[in-house]
Amino acid sequence: MANIGFIGLGQMGFPMVCNLLKKNHAVSVFDIDCEVVKKVTNLGAVAKNSPREAASGADFVITMLPNGQLVESVIFDEQGVIHTLSDDALLIDMSTIHPLESEKIRQRLEANGKQFMDAPVGRTSEHAVTGDLLILAGGTDEQIDRANDVLLCMGNEVVRAGGPGMGIAIKLVNNFMSAALNALSGEAVVLSEKLGLRYETVEKVFSGTPAGKGHFTTTWPNKLLKGDLSPVFMLGLAQKDLGIVMDVASKLNMPMPMGAAATMLYTQAKAHGREKQDWTAIVEEIRDAAAVPSKIN
Ligand code: NAD
Repeated sequence: MANIGFIGLGQMGFPMVCNLLKKNHAVSVFDIDCEVVKKVTNLGAVAKNSPREAASGADFVITMLPNGQLVESVIFDEQGVIHTLSDDALLIDMSTIHPLESEKIRQRLEANGKQFMDAPVGRTSEHAVTGDLLILAGGTDEQIDRANDVLLCMGNEVVRAGGPGMGIAIKLVNNFMSAALNALSGEAVVLSEKLGLRYETVEKVFSGTPAGKGHFTTTWPNKLLKGDLSPVFMLGLAQKDLGIVMDVASKLNMPMPMGAAATMLYTQAKAHGREKQDWTAIVEEIRDAAAVPSKIN
């Protein structure tokens, strides 16, 4: 069983510590909220007075905090983890923070001979309670192998994201997609309400089309991902449809910021000569705009 220092006992950290205790790990905790510390010590954790004390003698130190400045301060401040962290121990930041802050923290630790990996989590605090978090591990294979058993106390799957920094990178992209899709889906549902459609109808139709299933598993595999942009559904037709939607929305006094952005993007792709390509070529258009080399020969 491992000695674990755990800092940040909020909605996520508290149940994660409970799950580590259930698997008989020895957990030393620190949080600025005394109430939550009391709760977790009643369950078998040992309360410490600072991050520095929580890291003393630990094999692993886990941080689960709201932002990068806090992660940095609990590591590097006067009472920070770095002063007692052994060179053999592994510091695992499981918070969702800015990737540049995460990289800065890694570099500062490594310059001091310490080891760091990013392992943010997917899913919600309900999954933290049941121990079913999706753990997005950014680190060397050796670090992930070492941390695997501990990580699997808190989650039911560890994804090897592809090296140091890649855990926080995939977390960021995942959250972008989830948040943007939430707004886009909301816009579609409210438009359907304006048009007098029933929710059940919308749900039924979307669950059988790329609108609800997403494009990764529907339109992309046989076209874009095979490098074939010959049209199954022409980009110009999608652009025409979006134009109709925007006109209808305008007549219904329905603001559609997500729709407007998509319409402009398709219009740009059409202007660049992609009208007769498959609509999955929109990804190539975005690659062009971002100066990312095409994946299609
Ligand atoms: P939270 O606000 O509930 O908990 C943060 C905890 O950190 C609190 O207990 C707070 O007292 C403590 N804290 C703040 N400053 C501190 C300091 N200087 N020293 C020690 N402890 C300190 O946040 P949360 O929901 O547990 O989220 C933690 C991280 O997990 C965030 O980065 C969040 O983005 C990420 N996350 C949250 C969820 C979710 O569903 N809540 C899901 C995935 C990822």
